[in-house]
Amino acid sequence: MYVISLDLGTSGFRSQLIDLDKKETIKTVITMGHPLPGGNVMDHLDFAMATGEDVAHRLMIETVKKILEKFDVEPEKIERIAVCGNPIQLSLFQNMEIRDLAYAGENKQKSLGVKDVKREARIFPANEIFKGIFEMDNCEIIVPPAIKHEIGADALAMMLETDFIHQTEPCLVTDYGTNAEMALKIGDRIMTASAAAGPAIEGQGIACGMLAGPGAISDLTVENGLWRLTVLDRTMSPGEGPLVDPVTGEIAEEGGLIPKGITGTGVISTIALAIREGLMTKIPELPNGKLILSENIMISNKDVEEVGKAIGAIRAAHLTLMVESGMKFEDLTYSYMSGATGTYVNAENARYIGSVPGFSKNIIQFGNTSLGLARKIAIDRSKLDEVIGIAKKIQADHLMMATSETFKDIYICELSKWQQGMPEDVYKQMLEMYKIPVFPENIKEVEIEKRVVRDIDDVGKLGLEIVKDIGIILEAPVVDCILCHKCEQECPEDAVIIIQKDGEKERYANVDSQHCLGTSCRRCVAICPVQTMNHKILKIRKSSKK
Ligand code: SF4
Ligand code: SF4
Repeated sequence: MYVISLDLGTSGFRSQLIDLDKKETIKTVITMGHPLPGGNVMDHLDFAMATGEDVAHRLMIETVKKILEKFDVEPEKIERIAVCGNPIQLSLFQNMEIRDLAYAGENKQKSLGVKDVKREARIFPANEIFKGIFEMDNCEIIVPPAIKHEIGADALAMMLETDFIHQTEPCLVTDYGTNAEMALKIGDRIMTASAAAGPAIEGQGIACGMLAGPGAISDLTVENGLWRLTVLDRTMSPGEGPLVDPVTGEIAEEGGLIPKGITGTGVISTIALAIREGLMTKIPELPNGKLILSENIMISNKDVEEVGKAIGAIRAAHLTLMVESGMKFEDLTYSYMSGATGTYVNAENARYIGSVPGFSKNIIQFGNTSLGLARKIAIDRSKLDEVIGIAKKIQADHLMMATSETFKDIYICELSKWQQGMPEDVYKQMLEMYKIPVFPENIKEVEIEKRVVRDIDDVGKLGLEIVKDIGIILEAPVVDCILCHKCEQECPEDAVIIIQKDGEKERYANVDSQHCLGTSCRRCVAICPVQTMNHKILKIRKSSKK
């Protein structure tokens, strides 16, 4: 029999097939994107509320089905699937109420008639949600509990899978991603928060960016005045790529691995090296407006700004947590970094540009903690009771960055730094003006411990398979369409196409769900001269691509 671990991430799903008897990983399958339109959890939430939770749920299930098919095992041999993710992803997967996650504050929820939903651990038959789609008669699904309303199973995983929960010294843990989850522990007190970093932190939304996957530039180092690219291989292990002159783009030496794009950690290293090597004396201005890392792979001033905004949001949230806790910055002893960005990032470079506090005495890099926890529960069902017991004991307070004045003030400083090159001394003067304690200089020597080489440490004997194109098409009638095709031309992702049916009488918009940018875009809606484009009535097209 087999069990499956599944991490429903905001930028894509990750899953492993495990042989239950041998407790061995057989195969890993990941998607290069999320099936819901949009690049962050709020876009996903907005899509689900506007278009329908049933459509959003079906998109999630159809995508998981595609992953399960890649494992190529008989459905009746799957005994258990353990799933982890943030509360929005887990709710959409289970087809549960989500509106309580959209409205902060009990009064607002009450006025809208939204009941607070308990997100306790759940065990239920797989066919409850997979019936008629991918029936698994002998399979149960296990979902670990949330700690409380805003603190989901993914945050619990990040605390449990690292040493965070057992630390006696002040420590910080961050699951780096589009929505960066973080927690600060001082004695028995735990405070949590999340920063809407945006997709650039994972390499999306930048011109030559890609998620961490085979061919992604994950790091850069200086070698004889030139830059050596580190590229992820087929098993997601970092290996040697070309040696380049980043100003001219001249390749001095081909490495063993050919880069296809750059991921967020690669951009972090690019920025750190550009500052250190004197190529960017004022942020975000690069020589001739760009650095050339390989044929067709460039980093522009705009990319620096985009990644800077993401780093700025994470740094502002880190500092806000520490300020609001009342701790002294100097007391921070451990910083744990998890997720693909936490794993592959060059920690020295991350300290240098502030995505991890430079004054933390120790930095420990972990892999994918959500998948790690799901794996443990999938292999040993009794682990769930242990996890429930720990979740009940955790007394954690959640700090909402959206309503924090401290966060707002620090984030303004970060934006000024990344968009206008505000110098560090002016930054500190601004903090003083806002009456926010000024953070100390970076410590010169810190202990950096990398506990894993890859974010998924063991991909299994059949290796890693990537679902690049989820291939689900959403369709809506555009009854008044005049076939001007302006929506298609306006779409930055080539995600919409107008088709005709029934002898050209009926017109429909077809939207590629994975590639559509969702709420944050809507350019096709705005440009439509007859206002017939309506994303709220999209439904899954029956004959979506295979
Ligand atoms: S912009 Fe509007 S009218 Fe023009 S093709 Fe698209 S849906 Fe039709
Ligand atoms: S233009 Fe429309 S279809 Fe294209 S990404 Fe934007 S919202 Fe999606």
